[in-house]
Amino acid sequence: MSTKIKARIHRDDEVVVIAGRDKGARGKVVRVKPAEASVVVAKVNMIKRHTRQTQQSSGGIIEKEAPISISNVQFFCPNCKTGVRLGIKSLEDGQKVRSCRKCGEVLDQ
Ligand SMILES: [Zn+2]
Repeated sequence: MSTKIKARIHRDDEVVVIAGRDKGARGKVVRVKPAEASVVVAKVNMIKRHTRQTQQSSGGIIEKEAPISISNVQFFCPNCKTGVRLGIKSLEDGQKVRSCRKCGEVLDQ
């Protein structure tokens, strides 16, 4: 088994969309769907959905985020102010954290 840890996008990460309809958009990851290799990003890839009238709501059209491919997003580095590739850095205590490959900034708290 490989000991290599895959740099991953997590929930609550800020990402930039690098391809597709919402290219250039920035948002927070609200959900990661590993099985589909996709992520749901707040206010990105909005789709309109018709809902039926119920006793609780009047129905109508609601807007909702649709998942986008994880390969279409990049982690947003606050230091570089752009989408970057993630690397893995080992801390002195042996803990592995995600870091920016561009500036080296540790991106995990
Ligand atoms: Zn950076």
